[in-house]
Amino acid sequence: MIHEILPVGPLQCNCSIIGDKASREAMVIDPGDDIADVLALIHKHNLQVKQIVVTHAHIDHVGGAMKLRAATGAPILLNQNDYTLLKMLDVQAAWIGVPPPGKVDIDHSIGELDKVHAGSLIAQVMQTPGHTEGSICLYFPAQKKLIAGDTLFAGSIGRTDLPGGSFEKIISSLHEKLLALPDETIVVPGHGPLTSIGEERDSNPFLQKS
Ligand SMILES: [Zn+2]
Repeated sequence: MIHEILPVGPLQCNCSIIGDKASREAMVIDPGDDIADVLALIHKHNLQVKQIVVTHAHIDHVGGAMKLRAATGAPILLNQNDYTLLKMLDVQAAWIGVPPPGKVDIDHSIGELDKVHAGSLIAQVMQTPGHTEGSICLYFPAQKKLIAGDTLFAGSIGRTDLPGGSFEKIISSLHEKLLALPDETIVVPGHGPLTSIGEERDSNPFLQKS
């Protein structure tokens, strides 16, 4: 598995480029910004992007999706429960003081138990509402790797005070879905350093049983 993690944009969203070494097919997850840098890595590895997956409709994760689609022809996938948030990209741009990225069109919605492929690499979609209503995580069972979006961070969890957020829902997503994964699962959060399910199960203050 080729896996490049590139922090993009002013909020340094972790954009993942995941490629299959045999077929050179790839998926890009959370192309928030800096699409020229994303494309340079895609060309460096001689990859063909087949899917653009967005973990949730916050501007720092989705802002560059249309540019990447224009450059690669790959469809953009997002859970439909975030379509309302996606219509607020101008408002979101004002929150963080960046230019509005324009309208983003979703090619289709993905939800629980859907699978996303890049060649022989397969990711299972897990719906993990809480940070936003349509937040998803992508789990690669063969590689025991989780792309967590803004649901889980090293030592913390996603904020739930923005529109569509729910603390109750994120806690239940974390306990019922993410903590069901094996301890050795590598977690790539939407921002900041990598961690593992075991590490977070042991030490993340939000995941301790009271
Ligand atoms: Zn977010």
